[in-house]
Amino acid sequence: MLAFIEKIAVDKKCQQWHCSSVSEVGNRLKNARHAKGLSLREFAKRFEEDFSLLARIEAGERYPPKPRLKKFAEVLSLTPKQLEALIAVERRGLDPFEMLPEIVPAAVPTGSIEAAAEGILSTYSRTLNGAVVDGPIPVADVIKLACGLFTEYLDFEKERIPSPRGGDLYGCLYPNGFRGRDRVVLVNAGNIGGRRLSPAEQMVTIAHEAGHYVLHYGSKDSKQLLFRFSKAPTYCREQEIEPAPFNLKEDQATMFAACLLMPQSPFLNAWSHTPGDECRLASQFAVTESLVRVRAESLGCE
Ligand SMILES: [Zn+2]
Repeated sequence: MLAFIEKIAVDKKCQQWHCSSVSEVGNRLKNARHAKGLSLREFAKRFEEDFSLLARIEAGERYPPKPRLKKFAEVLSLTPKQLEALIAVERRGLDPFEMLPEIVPAAVPTGSIEAAAEGILSTYSRTLNGAVVDGPIPVADVIKLACGLFTEYLDFEKERIPSPRGGDLYGCLYPNGFRGRDRVVLVNAGNIGGRRLSPAEQMVTIAHEAGHYVLHYGSKDSKQLLFRFSKAPTYCREQEIEPAPFNLKEDQATMFAACLLMPQSPFLNAWSHTPGDECRLASQFAVTESLVRVRAESLGCE
């Protein structure tokens, strides 16, 4: 019981940190609405559904009621069976994309990924009384202060961190319970194929894992709290940290990393001085060149 109360205390704290994350069902519903360019009220009217019910589903506070499953499934671009499975998996706090690989993640507009990253940077800057971050983003400090995520550098082989899908891991995210601690980002500081991750690759890995936390893990202040205690970890290999166009979820985490580590206005400013010089921009922001390409593309830089 004590552990349960402590958990709630931690989760309340997280609420104060403005960790904005939603359930996949909520995420899909919001995207379906955005795609139609409607406010929640307009959407509820068009969809002939109760406004407050839709608001709570979008916030990850509840799921579509059983009698309306068919209608909701249609709006969410799923079959009723898929929606039922998605709800069951989410209720148990499992990762739907590990458990239900046939369910394609909802597309998240780049604009909302950008807004999530900006929100975290401004929370960080607020906790430092408005100090402006000059130079590379101190990513481990930022995600600790803004999201309560702890970063640890470990030799994965020595520490026997599992790699469920095989291959060398760059990093992973343990939302719950890594050696007695919650919300831990692990970075592989050991040997990977005869080399170690460069500082830039480590930066990108940390920001990518934070992206999974912010974009893909359920809202901690949700009414589904009890179901959300057993969150499965996320494991990421090189092919997931690098831009991954065929894996929407990984691609979203990488886009988040690009937005967090290269905020729009400093990036555009740097680009205007050295357009197309990926090598120079990468060293200025302490990131990889491939992440610079992701960022330049997202802002339409040519
Ligand atoms: Zn990943």
